[in-house]
Amino acid sequence: MKTPLLADVYAVEAFQTHGHQMVDLLAKHLKAAQKATRKTIPYTDPEIEKKFWEQYPEKQDFQTLAQDLIDRSIHVHQPKYIGHQVAPPAPITAVSSMLTSFLNNGSAVYEMGIANTAIERIITDQLCAQLGFDSNARGFLTSGGTLANLTALLAARSVKDRSGVWKNGHEESLGILVCEEAHYCVDRAARIMGLGDKGILKVPATTNYAMDTAALEETLEKAKQEGIQVFAIVGSAPSTATGTIDPLDKIASFAQKHGLWFHVDAAHGGAAIYSTTFKKDLAGIEKADSVAIDGHKMMMMPALTTALLFKDGSHSYQTFSQKADYLLSDADHEDWYNMAKRTFECTKSMMSIHWFVLLNQYGTSVFDEFVTKLYQMGRQFAEIIKKDANFELALEPQTNIVCFRMVQKQLSEKELNTLNERLRFALVQEGSFYIVQTKLRGTHYLRVTIMNPKTDPEILSALLAHLKELAKPILQNLK
Ligand SMILES: *Cc1c(COP(=O)(O)O)cnc(C)c1O
Repeated sequence: MKTPLLADVYAVEAFQTHGHQMVDLLAKHLKAAQKATRKTIPYTDPEIEKKFWEQYPEKQDFQTLAQDLIDRSIHVHQPKYIGHQVAPPAPITAVSSMLTSFLNNGSAVYEMGIANTAIERIITDQLCAQLGFDSNARGFLTSGGTLANLTALLAARSVKDRSGVWKNGHEESLGILVCEEAHYCVDRAARIMGLGDKGILKVPATTNYAMDTAALEETLEKAKQEGIQVFAIVGSAPSTATGTIDPLDKIASFAQKHGLWFHVDAAHGGAAIYSTTFKKDLAGIEKADSVAIDGHKMMMMPALTTALLFKDGSHSYQTFSQKADYLLSDADHEDWYNMAKRTFECTKSMMSIHWFVLLNQYGTSVFDEFVTKLYQMGRQFAEIIKKDANFELALEPQTNIVCFRMVQKQLSEKELNTLNERLRFALVQEGSFYIVQTKLRGTHYLRVTIMNPKTDPEILSALLAHLKELAKPILQNLK
C-alpha cells in the first residue's frame, strides 16, 4: 500500500515550517496580551461556537487555523485575566511542552522515561526538603490536584485501616474530616472511595472561612457515636473560594492526638513554601502525612502537573498494594523509578520536565518572586477596594484570591445579589477583563485570582472603574 498521507504527516520540512509559524504567532500574541490591548475573553454562546468549528474549512492553512484557535480562546497572559486559578505558563515551559509532546516518553516503567523519571525523583525530593520533610519523604507527580487528593486519601485509608481494604474492601463505616469550605474534589474523592454522605464529616468554618478547629473534637465525637471510623483529616492551603488557609498547625496537633492521617490540599498555595514572605502562613504543613501542590496554578506551568508528597515515603507505595511495606531506610532496593506502582496513571506525560526547566533556568527564587508578588497584589487590591464606597470586601485576603462585591445603599440584599450576578455576566460578555464569582453564605460575590505578575494596581483600579460603568444600565433596570 502506498501511504502518501503518512509520508506528509511525518515530513521533516513541514514540521519545521509549522513550528516556526507557531512560535512567531505565539510571540506576537504574547506581546499583544502583555500590552492588554485586546479582549481577555472572546465570549460566544456555546451553540454558536460549536457551529463555527463544525463549519470550519477543511485543510485550512495551518497558520490561519492556529490564529483562529488563539483568537477564540481566553487569554491567561493578559494582565486583565484575573479569574480562575490558572497560571499564565512561563513561555519556556510552553516550549518544553513541545519537546515533551514530541518525545512522548511515559513514566509507568523506567525504560519508557529514563530522563524524566530520574528528574521526577529529584524534583519531588527538592519539594519534600522545601516542605521541611526529612530524607524518608518521597513523592511523585500526577495529573492534577483532584487526582492527587484522591490518591492521598487512598493511601491514608490503606495505611490507617488495618483490615486490608485493598484486598478485602471494607464493611465498617469509614470517614474523613474536612472543612465545609474545602474544594469539591475532596468530597468527590470520598464518594469515589465509597464513604458516602455519612463518611464526609464537614467541619464548620469560622467567619473568615477557615476550618473552625474549636469544633473538631465535637465533630469527631459525633462521628464516633454514629459508628464511623474517621481515618483522615484534610486541611486546605488555601481553600478555593476565598483563598483562606486553614490553621494547619492546630489541625496537625489534632490529627496526631487522634491518630488520623493529615493531608494538606495545597493545590493552589503550596508554592508558598518557596516564598520568603508568606511561608510562615503554612506553618504546620511540615507535620502533614501528605501534601498536594499544583504546578499549573501558582508555579507557572502548563496544565496538568501536580506533586503529591508523603512525609513517610513508604506510605506512597501502599496506595495500590497491600505490601510494599518496607521501610525506606532499610530497604535493599527501593524501586522509586517504576512510577506506575505509586501513581493512578499508567501512561503519564513527561510533566517533571516543566519543573526541571524552570528550576534549572531560573532557580527556586523564581517561585518566591511569583508567589510573593501575587499574594502582595491581593492585599493591595483589598486596600483599593476599601477606599471605594461602591465596593466591599467579603474578607481580608490571605493570598491572591480576593472576594468583593458592589454595594449600593438603596438596594436590598436580594437586589445586591442580582446586581453583582448581572455585573459579572455583563463583564464576561463585554470581554475586556475576566473575573469570576462565588456565593458565600448566600451572598453573591465577585471573585478575582491575581495570577499574572503583570497585573498591577492600575489595572485593578481600572477594573473597579469599569464595573461602575457597566453597573449603570443594570441599576436602571433594578429600580
Ligand atoms: C484547584 C484546586 C483543586 C483541584 O486541582 P486540579 O489541579 O484542578 O485538579 C483542589 N483543591 C484546591 C484547594 C484547589 O485550589
